Amino acid sequence: MTGFPYCSACGAKLQGRPPITCRACGTAHWVNAKPCGGVLVMRDGQLLLLRRAIEPWLGRWDIPGGFCEPDEHPMQTAIREAREECGFEVEITGFLGLWLDRYPDPADPGRPKVTLNAYYHARAGNQVGAPDPHETSEVGWFEPDALPPEIAFPHHAEAVLVAWRDAVKHGRTVNPLPDRP
Ligand SMILES: [Zn+2]
Repeated sequence: MTGFPYCSACGAKLQGRPPITCRACGTAHWVNAKPCGGVLVMRDGQLLLLRRAIEPWLGRWDIPGGFCEPDEHPMQTAIREAREECGFEVEITGFLGLWLDRYPDPADPGRPKVTLNAYYHARAGNQVGAPDPHETSEVGWFEPDALPPEIAFPHHAEAVLVAWRDAVKHGRTVNPLPDRP
C-alpha cells in the first residue's frame, strides 16, 4: 500500500487513489475532468495552427488552447491562449463542441489526467506580439483541405478538425453565445 496520496484535509495516508473518501476524517476526494479551452482561428479562409516547442507532442502542429485557470471561462482561456501561443488577438464567433481526452501528467506518469476540451470558432484580429518561444516554435496558416497530417493530441484533435472543416463548409462558424463572459 505504498504510493497512495495523502488526504489534503487531515494528512492521513489514503487507502487508494481518488475517487476515495478519507477513513480518518471523512473528506471525499473526487476526480474530475480538467476543463480546457481551444480556438479555431480563421483569416481569409485559412486556419491558424502552432508548432509545439514543448512536450507532449513536441514538434507537432497544434490548435491553440490550454487549461482553464480556476475562475476562467473556456472562452476566455481560448482568447488568452491564442495570444500567448500565437501572438494574435481573436474575436470568438461561435461554439464548435466539447471533446474528452487524456493528458499525460509529468508529475504522475502512467496516470493521465482526463481533459474536457471546449472549442470555439474565432476571427483573427491584430497580431499583438510574438508567440511565447517556450511554447511555440512557429505559427502557420492552413487551407481547410491542406491541414498538416500529424497533429498534437490526435485522440481528440483529429475529430475537432473534421468538425471544424464541416462547420466551415456549411457556414456554421458563427452562432449565438449567450454564455459569453
Ligand atoms: Zn482526511
